[in-house]
Amino acid sequence: MARGTSLIAVAVLASLASTACSAVAGDDRPEPRVTDAAGDPRAGGEGGAPAGAPTDGSGGDGDKSEGKRTSKGPLADMTVVIDPGHNGGNEDAPDEINKLVPAGPSKKECDTVGAESNGGYAEHAFTWDFSQRLADRLEAEGATVVLTRDDDKGVGPCINERAKIGNDAEADAAISIHADGGPASGRGFHLIAPGEVEGFTEDIVEPSRQLAKDVRAAYREGSGLPYADYLAEDGLDERTDLGGLNLSTVPKVFLEAGNMRNPADAKKLADEEWREEAAGAVAEGIARYLQRD
Ligand SMILES: [Zn+2]
Repeated sequence: MARGTSLIAVAVLASLASTACSAVAGDDRPEPRVTDAAGDPRAGGEGGAPAGAPTDGSGGDGDKSEGKRTSKGPLADMTVVIDPGHNGGNEDAPDEINKLVPAGPSKKECDTVGAESNGGYAEHAFTWDFSQRLADRLEAEGATVVLTRDDDKGVGPCINERAKIGNDAEADAAISIHADGGPASGRGFHLIAPGEVEGFTEDIVEPSRQLAKDVRAAYREGSGLPYADYLAEDGLDERTDLGGLNLSTVPKVFLEAGNMRNPADAKKLADEEWREEAAGAVAEGIARYLQRD
């Protein structure tokens, strides 16, 4: 497990955290939702655009006829895949989410339930809300955004499916949104970039690391959260055990947006205004990455 500079104790904590948090979902694969700068991903309140209904320039005749379609903005030619970690139905579908799926050199559970704050705020609800806000911000800059799930009521998709959605979209950048279930005494956020896994991640290690650094810098500034003090180093971890990274062929990172088990972090994560600011910061970081030469 190329864990860089981490101490053994830290690695153990990270493993625990990954058990609590990293994963995906079941069998019920919704078609990835595609929206664009003109779309409103939150239209309709619950799920946004209909499943599988592209509203970008490539397929959205309806949008064109409405005359509101624009492909302008600094990210006009860019595609970003956002993967909201876990799903609201996972808890009730243990058979589906516990089945083993390809995760790189080995197999891993399809998905996990995710973490929860002491106050009962579920990670899947956080990631879903945060991802919508992030999508809004990126679309406002002209990007085409694809989400890996359509609502917060389903099961899955599995980690390998989540990776495939990014690959199939030929995303310029992909990001999985999570919030950690670390020790209550530990604060802060971290990014996870793919470590080198022979035959899998060689091509994405370098660009993913840059993406992680760009998001880290923007998020630190915009979120007001410190780097995680209970794992990783300076807010950046590298892992070789996450199927969502190992199976990605496009630059991809995980954001562990804070520690749900820490009261100070959880207070922010559960605050709508904070989420809006913090999601904007992630969008800035992604934009910074996408606009590099
Ligand atoms: Zn998670």
